[in-house]
Amino acid sequence: MDKRQAGERIKELTGELNHHSYLYYVLDKPQISDAHYDALYRELEELEQQFPELVQPDSPTQRVGDKVSGEFAQITHSKRRMSLDDAFSYSDLDAFEERAKKSLKDSRLRGNDGGGWAYVCELKIDGLQIVLTYKKGWLKTAATRGDGRVGEDVTHTIRTVRDIPLKLSKAINLVVSGEVYISKKDFEKINHEQEKSGSLSYANPRNLAAGTVRQLDPKVAAKRNLRSFVYDLEGDIKPKTQIELLKKLKDLGFSVNQENKLCSSLAEAKDFIGNWGKTREGLPYQTDGVVIKVNDLSLRDELGVTAKSPRWAIAYKFPAEQQQTKILDIIVQVGRQGTLTPVAVLKPVRIAGSTVSRATLHNEDEIKRKDVRVGDTVVVQKAGDVIPEVVRVIKEKRRSGSKEFKMPTQCPICGGKVVKAEGEVAYRCANKNCFVVQVRRLEHFVSRDAFDMEGLGAKIVEQLYKEGLVRDPADLFTLEEGDLEPLERFAEKSADNLIKAIQSSKEISLDRFVYALGILHVGAQTARDLTSVFTKFEDIMHSFPSSFQEIDGIGEKVAKSIYNFFTDQPNIALIKKLLAAGVRIKQAEKSVSRKLAGKTFVITGSLSKMAREEAEVKIRSLGGRASSSVSKETSYVVAGDNPGSKYDKARQLGVTIISEDEFLKLL
Ligand code: NAD
Repeated sequence: MDKRQAGERIKELTGELNHHSYLYYVLDKPQISDAHYDALYRELEELEQQFPELVQPDSPTQRVGDKVSGEFAQITHSKRRMSLDDAFSYSDLDAFEERAKKSLKDSRLRGNDGGGWAYVCELKIDGLQIVLTYKKGWLKTAATRGDGRVGEDVTHTIRTVRDIPLKLSKAINLVVSGEVYISKKDFEKINHEQEKSGSLSYANPRNLAAGTVRQLDPKVAAKRNLRSFVYDLEGDIKPKTQIELLKKLKDLGFSVNQENKLCSSLAEAKDFIGNWGKTREGLPYQTDGVVIKVNDLSLRDELGVTAKSPRWAIAYKFPAEQQQTKILDIIVQVGRQGTLTPVAVLKPVRIAGSTVSRATLHNEDEIKRKDVRVGDTVVVQKAGDVIPEVVRVIKEKRRSGSKEFKMPTQCPICGGKVVKAEGEVAYRCANKNCFVVQVRRLEHFVSRDAFDMEGLGAKIVEQLYKEGLVRDPADLFTLEEGDLEPLERFAEKSADNLIKAIQSSKEISLDRFVYALGILHVGAQTARDLTSVFTKFEDIMHSFPSSFQEIDGIGEKVAKSIYNFFTDQPNIALIKKLLAAGVRIKQAEKSVSRKLAGKTFVITGSLSKMAREEAEVKIRSLGGRASSSVSKETSYVVAGDNPGSKYDKARQLGVTIISEDEFLKLL
């Protein structure tokens, strides 16, 4: 792959991974399996290693977790909450050990003579990380990991988790971290109830746990029987090893997973993995791997951390479970932008604890690449989660006379024309009135990052559309209580609440409004980028693509798409109708100055006063550029704690290095 191709692929992967990260971490609604996500992530990592100068500033490889939703108060963690490096094979584990040992300055610590170096293997619980802070023995706060530095305050829901002590037996200060999860049995039960009541079901126990913890109403959480396993502590108790640490936690009354093992070598750790790989299905909760940690805590201090993860631990991920089945049919779904997605209808098969009958085929290119046909016997995999995928076709079992799959030329929903834009893999329904397209658009309009109309879920949106009560987003604002009451599942009370939620969403920030319009290629981040420069809606409506392209992060394709949107008559009519219905767009904050114009900044290490993303937003809002790789063109490298290789590179190139305080002064 040459540099130009790599650059394109890197951008594509970065965009795609960020989109899925958002669905996963913020909305708790993943659309692809973890295995698929991990494969894309690895592809990006490899390309970035080959072409470090092409790393995008918003690359998922540069951050832990994801953004914190605005719905909760924020809690700044006492220390950085890191992610773990992943291993997908035993040779990844060997490499991990080699790296770790190599990084030790004192070779005596490496324990090659058998002494000192031991691991603790723990099951990797597929839940949500929480950080519990105890003051004088009382549980004060509980936070999610968030972006590693700042998490969401979820004390109200965590207090409902029965195995988390609200008060410790000793009046000590302690920060305890662990995983909150939901058992497989409760997952099935709750999902069944969700389906019965017409609500959306959750993709996997992890998403259900995350969705439950991140509920505003603790009563919902209390009903769902969340559980916890803790595995880390800091504060008034100072154990010397991980094994001792786990014991102390247990003695304090916490729930500690008992399936852990002290291993004196990596070979023993591999045996542990091998055994659980075969027997984990029998566990009452979901585990997606094994976390291997250096047992000696002082050795951990010696080993330290990299930018993203500790050097003393690694998460081995179990391979996805695979099964054979038959493809009965290939159907085509239509998404919000009219995108057509082919889906395989499978002969029902049991994988990783549940029966599946659908598998996504992503797009036509993917079907061609795998040559999937109706009637084929295929290998399907499910990484214990989300929508299963077709891995490959068993060609020897193919019957003669099978035909290649072709995308329909007419939309399977509305019969409208199907088009394929040049250079894109996706086919779209060109009919803007297509039912599903319209419903998805409405769903997008009311969603959390857009108008955020609480209580207006997918089912209700669909019902409103079907009954003809709402044809376009502007109609939502003219709905009355009485319009809703006759509808199925609508009591007077909930109709009243819904109307209130709709009306109170009328005043909206510019970035959310732009995002809500559902402009092709304009996600929440692009909308923010756009409105940090264009602070008035009228200016966005009347500018040319070239002005949009001057904004960091907006390329030709996106710029054109914005321009096309605002020159399309029906869109203009919709905007007028929205404004007439009382929607008030708050003007975005004008950047006070462009004093950083022409300056490029690279941040390395961790900042103590703000998250890296926040610093980058500030730089951009003052007209500067935030980049992730150092070159001669870099104006300043901001060095936080534990700066990485970028620091050395800046020194080599003679780029000015400034401290966090100096950076703040500049701002
Ligand atoms: P991770 O799943 O690779 O593992 C780290 C986490 O494991 C820790 O933060 C902790 O919460 C947890 N953990 C469980 N048991 C533990 C134990 N005994 N000791 C220590 N930690 C333990 O990392 P992550 O950052 O939470 O998530 C990244 C992963 O999420 C990706 O690799 C991918 O599989 C998945 N993901 C999927 C999608 C998607 O669309 N499907 C999108 C984004 C991320």
